[in-house]
Amino acid sequence: MSPRIIQLPLSGRDRRHYMRELRAAEQAHRDLPAKVEEAYRAAHAVACHEWSVRQFIGGPAEPSPRIVDAIAGGCELLEVRCRRCSHESLIDLTEVVWPREKPIHTLAKVLRCQACKDERAGSGSSSARKSVTSCIAIRRTIRSNDPGEKPAKKARTR
Ligand SMILES: [Zn+2]
Repeated sequence: MSPRIIQLPLSGRDRRHYMRELRAAEQAHRDLPAKVEEAYRAAHAVACHEWSVRQFIGGPAEPSPRIVDAIAGGCELLEVRCRRCSHESLIDLTEVVWPREKPIHTLAKVLRCQACKDERAGSGSSSARKSVTSCIAIRRTIRSNDPGEKPAKKARTR
């Protein structure tokens, strides 16, 4: 035999109180995902900044933030430098053809320097010397940048 549950009738004041509590809980439930998203965005931005500072002081490139996290954190520009000719350029991470789940430092070995490539093509030498790039910083996207700025390097499609 199941136990009897006796519901005590709620007074009007109690009912209003519980309705207010219920609405507050529903509102909090709606707001929390946005707050979590915002917190993650801030955390990703801090991680990108931390990595950039580490590169600046000569620290290891590994581990680095994932590409998808950098984009989520609003840091969509990767600054890279050619180790051979010291040519620097900015790469838009949203346009790079590379798995987004991979860490940013994995891009260094697949990026080729356009300046070195042009130089080789100009001199006519067929030396297959590879230019090695290193990632040096992740920058925040500046939406009002001049359209003349074009990334000089592209990741090869795999
Ligand atoms: Zn170069």
